[in-house]
Amino acid sequence: MNIIIFGPPGAGKGTQAKHLVKKLESFQVSTGDMLREEIKKDTEIGKKIINNMNDGKFVDDDIVNSLLEKIIFDPLKINKLIFDGYPRTLNQAKNLESILSKSNQKIHFVFFLNVNKESIIKRIEKRKILEKRSDDDANTILKRYDTYMEVTRPVLDYYSKKQNFHEVDGSMEINDISQKIEEILKV
Ligand code: AMP
Repeated sequence: MNIIIFGPPGAGKGTQAKHLVKKLESFQVSTGDMLREEIKKDTEIGKKIINNMNDGKFVDDDIVNSLLEKIIFDPLKINKLIFDGYPRTLNQAKNLESILSKSNQKIHFVFFLNVNKESIIKRIEKRKILEKRSDDDANTILKRYDTYMEVTRPVLDYYSKKQNFHEVDGSMEINDISQKIEEILKV
């Protein structure tokens, strides 16, 4: 099964993606991780994207799309992809559909983890106490939340019209979210 986990920063996409990777013996496709790796290795791509990444801005579609191709055509990973953080723009959503169809694949399920700003603020407050994070971190997260909701709205509209789209309350406890997703997947 190929699955997209969609939702704002702080919704728990990564956590749920990792859970599904184990449960379904699949592979996590996190464009955020892939981009951070390019920066770490100081590649040409890394040099191009570092400023946008540091400012919490999206990286150009062309760059993100190109990083994805290798994974989608990997025979070991066919129909075992859990997308986390991709697609984030309409262009990326259409690109994904096109490369998947070139490799005779499709998206089986899209999950939108919906979390409102109040819940995110509560989570940040909790983390601030537990992990001694600063207010700067909290402000960055909130800024990224606003950008995400604004820029990804067309992507949400695009997927929400499809039959395989499911909205899940992302403010629930982690285990309850996983359970809800599994119920829908019937796994
Ligand atoms: P994430 O780890 O998914 O929260 O992503 C961290 C950062 O990587 C984002 O703030 C963006 O700068 C960049 N990024 C990750 N995925 C994408 C994507 N699909 N399109 C554009 N930028 C992305």
